[in-house]
Amino acid sequence: MKKVELHLHLDGSIRPTTISELLNLDLKEAIKLSTLEKKSNSLKEYLEKFDIPLKIMQTKENLERVAKELAEDLLKDQVIYAEVRFAPNKHLEQGLTLEEVINSVLKGLSKVKIKTNLILCMMRGDSFLKNLEIIKLAKKYLNKGVVTIDLAGNEAAYPVMEYKELFEIAKKEGIPFTIHAGEADNAESVMNAITLGATRIGHGVRAIEKEEALNLIKEKNITLEVCPKSNLDTNMYNSLEEHPIKKLYDMGINITINTDNRTVSNTTLTKTYEDLTHTFHFAKEDFIKMNEAAIKSAFISILEKEELLKKLHE
Ligand SMILES: [Zn+2]
Repeated sequence: MKKVELHLHLDGSIRPTTISELLNLDLKEAIKLSTLEKKSNSLKEYLEKFDIPLKIMQTKENLERVAKELAEDLLKDQVIYAEVRFAPNKHLEQGLTLEEVINSVLKGLSKVKIKTNLILCMMRGDSFLKNLEIIKLAKKYLNKGVVTIDLAGNEAAYPVMEYKELFEIAKKEGIPFTIHAGEADNAESVMNAITLGATRIGHGVRAIEKEEALNLIKEKNITLEVCPKSNLDTNMYNSLEEHPIKKLYDMGINITINTDNRTVSNTTLTKTYEDLTHTFHFAKEDFIKMNEAAIKSAFISILEKEELLKKLHE
């Protein structure tokens, strides 16, 4: 079935064959370095899988190539719209400017016939000024391939409230945003992210731990970008059965299904839908509802949303 993906990291979704080719590594070794073979012990260990892809994402050619290949993979996965995210500041090691980084990724995505936009990630642990640059870039590229900003990285070590001033600036600049919260950090972090103005939450599933957080999500009509396989890989839940996606969905919360990192988690949306069907017996209508929620909360115009809804139901 046709799908929409809102939470997808470019650097966590590079084909192992490309890593192998560009770094002159044996394919087995490339897979080992970029994919979690078994559950990690923490989000930190999971994030270490990004070291290898980041090594190759430092030139215009390579950025363009991995973006194009991801778009091809999305098309194969029957994705009709995706918001792809990445942190431009991580790609300056060989002298590229932030604009060159973004232009290269946009160029790669545009080579495939699929509707995509970019989300620029500010990073937890980066300086105020470095993250401020991302807001300025988002403003510059807004609705020209970039639709919003995000805050990613190690949640537990860098609470969302430390970034309050940056999100106030983003709001003043008219940039909407999503924030990673309620993944490594607790339900309180979800509430804080919503208070700061996020209309979507990356993960957010730990809101289930606090009724107040669930109420706030419903009251503000927030959409959760749920990434089930990723949550298993970072050891948040022992099994899919323990994952709260079904409970959250049954509560009437806007749920969307995402892969987070296709390579690190060795998954696709198709596979994720299959696993969810198997475990929770979601019906096709449930998935349609979730994709409608994704379209409604996408950072695109009303006209574009109407077009996508039509395409979804074709
Ligand atoms: Zn993420």
